Amino acid sequence: MEVQSIAVLGSTGSVGTRCLEVVRQHAGRMRIAGLSAHRSSRLLARQAREFRPDWAVLSGSVSDGRAEDFEGTELLRGLEAAETRIRRGDVDVVVSAIVGAAGLGPTLAAVDAGKRTAIANKESLVMAGPLITRRAAETGARLLPIDSEHSAVFQALQAGRRQDVRRIVLTASGGPFRGWTSQQMASVTPDMALQHPVWEMGRRITIDSATMMNKALEIIEARWLFDVSADQIAVVVHPESWVHSFVEYTDGSVIAQMSPPDMRLPIQYALTFPERHECPCPDTDWQQPMTLQFEPPDPVAFPALQLGFEAAERGGTCGAVLNAADEIAVARFLEGEIRFDQIAPLCKDVLHHHDYEAHPTLETLLNLDAWARKEARNWTS
Ligand code: MG
Repeated sequence: MEVQSIAVLGSTGSVGTRCLEVVRQHAGRMRIAGLSAHRSSRLLARQAREFRPDWAVLSGSVSDGRAEDFEGTELLRGLEAAETRIRRGDVDVVVSAIVGAAGLGPTLAAVDAGKRTAIANKESLVMAGPLITRRAAETGARLLPIDSEHSAVFQALQAGRRQDVRRIVLTASGGPFRGWTSQQMASVTPDMALQHPVWEMGRRITIDSATMMNKALEIIEARWLFDVSADQIAVVVHPESWVHSFVEYTDGSVIAQMSPPDMRLPIQYALTFPERHECPCPDTDWQQPMTLQFEPPDPVAFPALQLGFEAAERGGTCGAVLNAADEIAVARFLEGEIRFDQIAPLCKDVLHHHDYEAHPTLETLLNLDAWARKEARNWTS
């Protein structure tokens, strides 16, 4: 059996560290070729000493980076160094787990080099879905989703032919404000919104789960990843987060992927597909009674969802603009500058006022990203 060489970009984040747990379990099957982190030099050095990659990249400015001991691993600076290294022949798989728009460049580099690309960086597909999917088709790069919902869809797609897919149904936990009215949403504070009932995640994605903007971005992600139209995507609220999404086929059959909520499973599947192996995550306990609930989302209390459908339908530059506007809106909410229920209206205004292009270049997308951030910073109701 061949050993897979894996580069983990964003190795000190929540997906990155779980990815290394998976690799640790499969030492005979996988090896780490390279790692990257932004500023967490101490953890990166510890990972380098354990996994002994050829290279490790620090992309941000770190005062104490030189003080860390990377032993035999070559320490490089700047994301461009990672982009150069992942193009080389000694990397088989790139795990794109850098948080935010910074992950776009390395994801494009991996796809450009025709590598198997495991995508946890939502922004790549949300911002540049048309570019990434087109380039992947040209280079033969295989895109494997790590987002739990998209992994579930990808797994359920193995049950049938693509032309027989009627609909993709993304599940949503509903976040901490499931069942709340739009009036109640006006009084949500950052502390309230930072509590998530199921998943432990970064601050932006936690707020995005509370507004359901996270699901809106996942709709856009699904549109590109699975080449479906917006009206072939539906969202259902499922508070237990046990079913990670569904695929509905033309005969009415609905195939679900279900497992205890644990990111290591989708990460491992992206690395081992089409094989399945023992996974370091918990099993379903069939001795325990279990109830699974499903309910339609409330579009009035969660107006962000509609923005996701709209951006998926229009495509082009919409995802990049919505993503950038939301990132700033979330930061302004956490700073106390805008109310929780103003996040979606801010995003809607910025989305509706941008210069839309159906077939943007990377440069156009990056310019619009900067424009949308500026608009969002200056936004007043
Ligand atoms: Mg998700």
